[in-house]
Amino acid sequence: MPELPEVETIRKDLQEKITYKQIKDVIVNISKIIKKPSLEEFITKTKDKKIKEIDRRGKYIIIHLDSEDKLIIHLGMTGLLIYPYNKNSKEILEGEIKAKHNHLVFTFTDDTQLVFNDVRRFGKIFLVSNIDEIESISKLGIDPLEDYFTEEVFIQVLNKKKKGKIKPFLMNQKFITGLGNIYANEVLYRSNIHPLRLISSLIEEEVKNLYQQIKLVLSEAVELRGSTVADEAYRDTDGEKGKFAKKLQVYARKGEPCIKCGHPIEVVRIEGRSSFICPQCQKL
Ligand SMILES: [Zn+2]
Repeated sequence: MPELPEVETIRKDLQEKITYKQIKDVIVNISKIIKKPSLEEFITKTKDKKIKEIDRRGKYIIIHLDSEDKLIIHLGMTGLLIYPYNKNSKEILEGEIKAKHNHLVFTFTDDTQLVFNDVRRFGKIFLVSNIDEIESISKLGIDPLEDYFTEEVFIQVLNKKKKGKIKPFLMNQKFITGLGNIYANEVLYRSNIHPLRLISSLIEEEVKNLYQQIKLVLSEAVELRGSTVADEAYRDTDGEKGKFAKKLQVYARKGEPCIKCGHPIEVVRIEGRSSFICPQCQKL
């Protein structure tokens, strides 16, 4: 599932590639992906509009149109935004990205196309005049890639959930937005903190360390254009895989030796998700 670095990669790509383009035609193949407004209204309000800029809130990509409406895209589990969409591209030929999953196609006035492809169909698309009309966005917590995410701010947010456990806290979008299972595992391992540790039990140095690792891991992952682990769906707008997967130190490394102490990496289930840990480096 795309997390913050993957969504930020796509945002940056789109900002570079489609800003100032004008939408000539809109094709919606699966109407249920348009959550708001009606399909007819969605088409009339996007047709002929120009793209002003591409923004992001947590894992939501926000495309500002010159009408002042905002086109909001959440990739869900397997959503891809491909631009320019080219039927002869390598991925299509290899059959990795199948045209039957192209649920939304924008054609710009220069005849290039932006395609939203989503195999599992958990993706969501909205068109609103005010972003906060979407409840799940208005409730999002702090964004760890923004400048305002300082150590002081991190401590303030941690203090809201002192009795909670650290990994579920990191993955709760109401506190910190954008961290999912991959990056929560990575930052905890790199900070030597067991995912089930109570927030109240963390000492000052651990909090400092964790804060720094969140900044470090996420910025490096953005630089390497996100992670595509094994058979995961994530691709950038060119259809390319994210290169941070090679840098993962604990995620998806079950049974392999810990790079710090050599103990085999173990998996524990926490709230239905696999947590990868080194039981020697991350003690409860
Ligand atoms: Zn270890």
